[in-house]
Amino acid sequence: MFRFRIWRRIAPCAWGHKTMKKLETKSLVLLKHHLKVLKLPTILAECEKVAGRCAQDNIDHLGFLLQLCELELIEREKRAADRRLKAAKFPNLKTLDTFDFTAQPSLNRLLVAELMRCAYLDNRESVILIGNPGTGKTHVATALGAEACGRGKRVQFWKVTELITKLIEAREERQLARMKKQLARLDLLILDELGYVPTSKLGAELLFDVISTAYERTSLIVTTNLPFENWTEVLGSERLTGATLDRLTHRCHILEATGESYRLQDARRRKGVGKRST
Ligand code: ADP
Ligand code: MG
Repeated sequence: MFRFRIWRRIAPCAWGHKTMKKLETKSLVLLKHHLKVLKLPTILAECEKVAGRCAQDNIDHLGFLLQLCELELIEREKRAADRRLKAAKFPNLKTLDTFDFTAQPSLNRLLVAELMRCAYLDNRESVILIGNPGTGKTHVATALGAEACGRGKRVQFWKVTELITKLIEAREERQLARMKKQLARLDLLILDELGYVPTSKLGAELLFDVISTAYERTSLIVTTNLPFENWTEVLGSERLTGATLDRLTHRCHILEATGESYRLQDARRRKGVGKRST
């Protein structure tokens, strides 16, 4: 009798525990399936770990759900920023962490810091970076573009000559309207190296078209080694240069680097180090 009582007391418990375990496994499999269908990969990967932690820390169900949703959102934003970075097609990904402002004292550091906050994008303002080759224009333009990607903006980086070639190709293939539509969807268009090579009349017109479509809709960052007065040499016609400059310089920030090439400084530094060590 005594034995029987003990058995009665323990048995349902042991049996229930087993069933619960079974149910747990079953619902976990189902849960994982649902999370996969719902496309919530981070919750899928983290739910067991977070559940364990929340149970330990006595966090209620809503708190647990909040933690999971936050993790999913953070990961989703990270993936989207990576996608935007890839779509921007930067030739080399650069950030300001590796930019030495002391090597380019003429560059307005405060303005660069202000631009990194990206308010110019919401105001549809543009940036022109002027300076000799090697003064870090592409580096700064890329850093600004990468920051914009991180803040959810659609960005594309184009070397001006490559953009013009692509525009001419698109025109020949009757794809120009499509390409222009794609460019118009951007929040920031970076035009690198305007003025390194003179453009054909058609090229200049197509470029002007892109710049005037972007006007007050898409921010532009233009890097150039040419002072404004020499733009006619590249764009050909005075009229087109005037109209392009008019659009570009309206509501724009100008960053000028008057120092010498960083590569040159770097080479000299290395040579100096080499000399000292020998
Ligand atoms: P630009 O576009 O003005 O010709 P780049 O941005 O291409 O010059 O710079 C040339 C190289 O020197 C790049 O590798 C760039 O990262 C580096 N560089 C230029 N200026 C600096 C700087 N002030 N600090 C660190 N690296 C720099
Ligand atoms: Mg450059």
